[in-house]
Amino acid sequence: MAMNAALLVAPGESLVLTTVNLDGPLPDEVVVRTECVGLCHSDLHYADGSLSIDMPALLGHEVSGVVELVGSAVTRLAPGDHVVATITPSCGICRYCVAGRPAQCTRVAEVRARPRPRVTLPGGTPVAILGGIGAFAEAFLAREGALALVPPDVPAQVSCLLGCCVTTGVGAIVHGARVTSQDTVAVIGCGGVGISAIQGARLAGARRIIAIDVHPTKLEVARTFGATDAILATADSSLTVAQLMALVPGGVSHAIEAVGRPQTASLAFDLLAPGGTATILGLMPEGQTLEISADALVYGDRRIQGAYMGANRFLNDVDMFVDHYRSQRLDLDRMVTAVIPFAQLNEGMKAMANPNTVRIVLDMGAGQPARPA
Ligand SMILES: [Zn+2]
Ligand SMILES: [Zn+2]
Repeated sequence: MAMNAALLVAPGESLVLTTVNLDGPLPDEVVVRTECVGLCHSDLHYADGSLSIDMPALLGHEVSGVVELVGSAVTRLAPGDHVVATITPSCGICRYCVAGRPAQCTRVAEVRARPRPRVTLPGGTPVAILGGIGAFAEAFLAREGALALVPPDVPAQVSCLLGCCVTTGVGAIVHGARVTSQDTVAVIGCGGVGISAIQGARLAGARRIIAIDVHPTKLEVARTFGATDAILATADSSLTVAQLMALVPGGVSHAIEAVGRPQTASLAFDLLAPGGTATILGLMPEGQTLEISADALVYGDRRIQGAYMGANRFLNDVDMFVDHYRSQRLDLDRMVTAVIPFAQLNEGMKAMANPNTVRIVLDMGAGQPARPA
């Protein structure tokens, strides 16, 4: 079917609103009408060329929508269902899936593979799709297993956040760091993922939650989401370490890195008390290496680990998030800084740099209908 989509045609350039064709669903696929899309820094990194993708490309991956059409083998979802998508679909039968680590599924490529492109230009040129989703469009195709059901009382403008930043930030605390009420937690970077990690640490009952960011505004916001302390970071990370040690003598038991730079990953490690664990969430350009003190690692029993996409168990996690949202322990509403119509997507991408922004959400139903250029 023909639909409007915003394509990346060259890194660093604005997305181009145009008409593309969406393929019909395979037997185990679902066509979802896009409702809301959270603008994530990963989208921005592909748009500005710091992460690479084939062109033309369809970005957008933090998405909620309504099931429009299901393939013949789909049994769990039906037209009209509200869903949120994950970029970490899983096969359910590989050794990582059966061991409870579906975000490390070894068969993601097979799960996403299809005999025809999902999306093509009118002339037939295939469009590259970020994360097997490609949500900057009126509809997208996903495998049934990549979609979690969301109850209709959770608004689409907030349920989209469950697809990436909440899954990553809260997941890192729950599945990655496994924070308890005895823990002290430092969170570096207070954007959508960092704020989610702060909320996760509060949910887990952490005794201290120290927000760290270079923007004072972000620290103020972080306090309203549960940070007990805040440190304004500068280029000199040793000052940040000293400030943290003044707040929590000896260091924290958990540090969460939600920026995506080797320097902040090293900082996370430097903030740890003996026995502490640094959990690194930020995606970094390919080939980066991290520098940590071998002495601090070995003599201090410290650990450093990843928690890709919050080491999520997506279909179960979404149910957990919904329960916490409904009981007002997980504040998704205030994470939405602004809601914009499709036609303002490029302005929204630029506004992500504003330190007041936690999440900008594209609402496909808002404002004037988008018109192809
Ligand atoms: Zn994302
Ligand atoms: Zn698997």
